[in-house]
Amino acid sequence: MTNRQCSSCTACCEGWLTAKINGIQIKPGTPCVNCTKQGCKIYETRPKNPCVSFKCGWLIEPDKFPEHMKPSKCGAIIVFSQWGGKGVVKATPVGEKIPSDTLDWLMAFAREHSLPLMFNEHLFEDGKYIGLTKKCYGPQSFIREEDTRITPEDIMRF
Ligand code: SF4
Ligand code: SF4
Repeated sequence: MTNRQCSSCTACCEGWLTAKINGIQIKPGTPCVNCTKQGCKIYETRPKNPCVSFKCGWLIEPDKFPEHMKPSKCGAIIVFSQWGGKGVVKATPVGEKIPSDTLDWLMAFAREHSLPLMFNEHLFEDGKYIGLTKKCYGPQSFIREEDTRITPEDIMRF
C-alpha cells in the first residue's frame, strides 16, 4: 500500500493521455473540461473509468519511483504495461517531450530492471496537435521491429 496522494498533480487530466471523459475526448492540447490545474472540479462524482481507476506508477509504486518522479515534477506519466506478453514501462510526456534528466533516469531504470521502456513525443504544428512518435529503449532480445509500429531509428537497444 502507498500513502502517496495526487494532491495538486493533474498530469493525467491534461490530455497527455488520450481518453474519453463523460463522452468527451481529451488529447494533447485539449485537457479535460473539469481540470482546474489544481485538481478536479467534479472530484466526488468523477467517472469511475478512467478517473477513479487510473493510477500512475509513481502513485502506486513508491518503492520503485522516488518523489522526484511525480508526474507534475518530472514531466512524465509512468505506467507498467504489457507488450507482446511481457512487462514494459511506458512513459508519456507531460508536454511535448520527456525532459532529458527524466529520460536518463527512466533509461537507467529500464537497464537496472531489464525492462523495455516505451515512450513517445507529442507533435504540434502551429500550436495544433498532429500526432505522436513512438520510441523504445530496451534489451536486444526483446525489441523486434516487426512487432511494433516503431520505426527502426526510434528503437534503441542496450
Ligand atoms: S499522473 Fe499520477 S499522481 Fe498525477 S494525478 Fe494522475 S494518478 Fe495522480
Ligand atoms: S473528470 Fe476530473 S479526474 Fe477525470 S480527467 Fe477530468 S479533471 Fe481529471
